[in-house]
Amino acid sequence: MRLSKYCCAVAFGVHCASAFLLPQSKQHPKFGSANVVVLQESGRVEWDAERNEPPQTSESSFATESAGEATERLGLNSAPTVWTEFGRIGQENQVVNLGQGFPDWLPPEFAVESLVEAAQDQMNSPHQYTRPAGHPNLVQQLARRYSTHMSREIQPMTEVAVTVGASQALYLTLQTVIKPGDEVVLFEPFFDLEEEGVITGGEWVLEPDMLKKYVSPRTKAIVLNSPHNPTGKIFTRTEMEYIAEGLEFAGPHCIVISDEVYKYIVHSPPKQVAKDESPLCRGHVHFASLPGMWDRTITVSSAGKTFSATGWQVGWCIGPQRLISRIHQLLPYVQFCTSTVSQEALARALPRADLPYKGHDSYYDFLMDRYTRKRDLLANALTTAGFAVPDYDQTPGGGFFILARIGSDIANAIPKERIMAANPAAPGGRARMDWALCQWMAEEKGVLCIPASPFFSTESAEAGAADGFIRIAFCKTDETINNAAEAFRAMKDAILLEQQEQGHCQSQNTTVAATMGQ
Ligand code: PMP
Repeated sequence: MRLSKYCCAVAFGVHCASAFLLPQSKQHPKFGSANVVVLQESGRVEWDAERNEPPQTSESSFATESAGEATERLGLNSAPTVWTEFGRIGQENQVVNLGQGFPDWLPPEFAVESLVEAAQDQMNSPHQYTRPAGHPNLVQQLARRYSTHMSREIQPMTEVAVTVGASQALYLTLQTVIKPGDEVVLFEPFFDLEEEGVITGGEWVLEPDMLKKYVSPRTKAIVLNSPHNPTGKIFTRTEMEYIAEGLEFAGPHCIVISDEVYKYIVHSPPKQVAKDESPLCRGHVHFASLPGMWDRTITVSSAGKTFSATGWQVGWCIGPQRLISRIHQLLPYVQFCTSTVSQEALARALPRADLPYKGHDSYYDFLMDRYTRKRDLLANALTTAGFAVPDYDQTPGGGFFILARIGSDIANAIPKERIMAANPAAPGGRARMDWALCQWMAEEKGVLCIPASPFFSTESAEAGAADGFIRIAFCKTDETINNAAEAFRAMKDAILLEQQEQGHCQSQNTTVAATMGQ
């Protein structure tokens, strides 16, 4: 079945964007109104003369009064999240885990070798701090690649910023772009780290003019993620043009933050090569390469998905100097630099990835082939079990998740008491159908998947928009996927058996009733 849902974009105000952790200030040029406590030479703190006593706080007021902006925004209580909750369930039960999105195999040999070589390099030891804006060897490599991707000369020192993964790239970008009261538009469902104070747009199809209903002069950024987590959607060139129109409509202060972490995993490329498609990654269009969009875009990506090395935590932002310079400025206050060893390893691995690899023209071709096979393995297992998945012969797809629709037999089989059961980790505090199914499967059927609702705004989740979907990862060994297929098949057999038994009971009851009625 082809998944398609019409855009239901809603833009909410950014509650508070400035989570850079020091209060605003009049006095200190760098730290704002933070009271600067001056240390005396002896090392004893010099107390403010007017405030000899440390302020008294009661235990009960501590929670509310001491919370910083960011903590307040995230919610004062430390309620479990989908990740902590399903992490716990995964540990407490014997499951085949298709939940979190990280590959369960080693990075390619040349990447591991690059890491070892980097670690052992006595001449240019990468074991100390490096340039906060990015290790020189890595920014050179990134600029070289992105110059080809985007058909323009990218300046390594001014148009590239290296970050701790794409997560930090998103964080820094949002911090340098938005202030309290601004609006940011996301396409729903969305990757949860992009939600940080901002909410929604639409998916799986973006209709013409839809975005214009949701942007306003207050909109400072539109967050695009293609290939998309969790749906696997690849935004078409035409949809990107709608986004460019929406951007113009919002005004010259608005930018696009384009999260492209899955760009080398386009397992089902669009049939036709799109205008401006990158010559280095088949099926992927960098939004920044659309006419006029370089100046209005920060492109975010990272090495984790491409090199099966999510733990290296090397990410980056690429964009015009006027936007990247703000990120350069903020970077050392958040993290002096990203691990130099990881950066040097990646700088060495990047040129090697272009060489022939395991019978393919390059590592990237190998990667596409590997993920296409794994997607098919999982898609077949899911359809056999009674889920619906996109028709990848028709629908372009990328990334390493399938957002599957729950079939009616499966939906009917979920124990009723599990649906809408109270659960503090679930959006809105209740386990709707997607959540109940994932929990039931993990606790009783031996396979762990992730409910769709955390990828939606709470309002949409409470309105049932995510009820019919679950997210399943296929960045797992064939053995793991086959074991999951086995668990899905056993679940389906049990459901069929139950249906047959119920049908049998029902026909017996009908016979009894008919006999009694005579
Ligand atoms: N963006 C998207 C869409 C993602 O799925 C992820 C990781 N799940 C990230 C960003 C974060 O990537 P990184 O691990 O490099 O921080």
